[in-house]
Amino acid sequence: MFDNLSGKLDQAFKTLKGQGTITEINVAATVKEIRRALISADVNFKVAKDVTDRIKEQALGRDVLISVKPGQLLVKIVNEELTKMMGGEKADFNTKGDPAVILISGLQGSGKTTFSGKLANMLKKQGRQVLLTACDIYRPAAIDQLKVLGEQVGVEVYAEPENKNALEIANNAIKHAKATGKKIVIVDTAGRLAVDEQMMNEIEELKRALNPTETLFVVDSMTGQDAVNTAKTFNERLDFDGVVLTKLDGDTRGGAALSIRTVVEKPIKFMSTGEKMDAIDLFYPDRMASRILG
Ligand code: GDP
Repeated sequence: MFDNLSGKLDQAFKTLKGQGTITEINVAATVKEIRRALISADVNFKVAKDVTDRIKEQALGRDVLISVKPGQLLVKIVNEELTKMMGGEKADFNTKGDPAVILISGLQGSGKTTFSGKLANMLKKQGRQVLLTACDIYRPAAIDQLKVLGEQVGVEVYAEPENKNALEIANNAIKHAKATGKKIVIVDTAGRLAVDEQMMNEIEELKRALNPTETLFVVDSMTGQDAVNTAKTFNERLDFDGVVLTKLDGDTRGGAALSIRTVVEKPIKFMSTGEKMDAIDLFYPDRMASRILG
């Protein structure tokens, strides 16, 4: 994960550590190298500029120049700033409600259905009663896919293959959940290959009518700045509660993970790191920063 970025940052620190006496010029050059590494990792330009300005300010303000181990102190400062960029603290995920409704949104292929299965699996392992709901009314294959995943993780899947009204299906699923003692309903929705008005209207209506406990936006982290732009568009329409970053296992750059929080101002709540049902984790900004810095 993020090997490309980690390698470049490591190189920047190595250059600094290799200098005999550290001067303000050395620090400035290292910070510039860090900025270049972030931009080539597809971090939003303004985000990269702001964060490296802060790193430089901190480095000079916190006496990196006279510290015993200037390289280490700079790594610490960069770690703190990357953590802040990704939201600082781990975000809460609310599953209170009777039932709690978790609405899953995002483009087709982003990993919504896979994530729905993983989230159900994670919650089930915590002893929660979960119902998965297939609301992709356009792709019958999506219903089958969710059924397969539901079976795999041992969670019931609610579907009405003949019904073309997503809201009706979701409302029926909630009724079914109440009748069968399920406390969390995960609603997997239809996505398109690109943002379009009809999809946006549909998901907007679902959100308005269902008033979900959590609305999550799922996005493929490998798409870098496209992921950030799509998140922005969805957030303007949906005002979602959190982001799910998928396919981090294949992302060598990390641009989406590092920019999305600052640009969209919504927390990353989950990360997905593979196709298997247990490849899901809560998102910890500090752990991610440490991982990037190796
Ligand atoms: P949806 O159209 O948004 O529901 O997307 P899917 O859940 O069908 O996922 C699209 C493809 O991405 C599938 O082949 C999944 O197996 C794959 N996928 C989903 N999440 C991950 C992940 O975290 N890592 C990897 N490597 N593949 C993933």
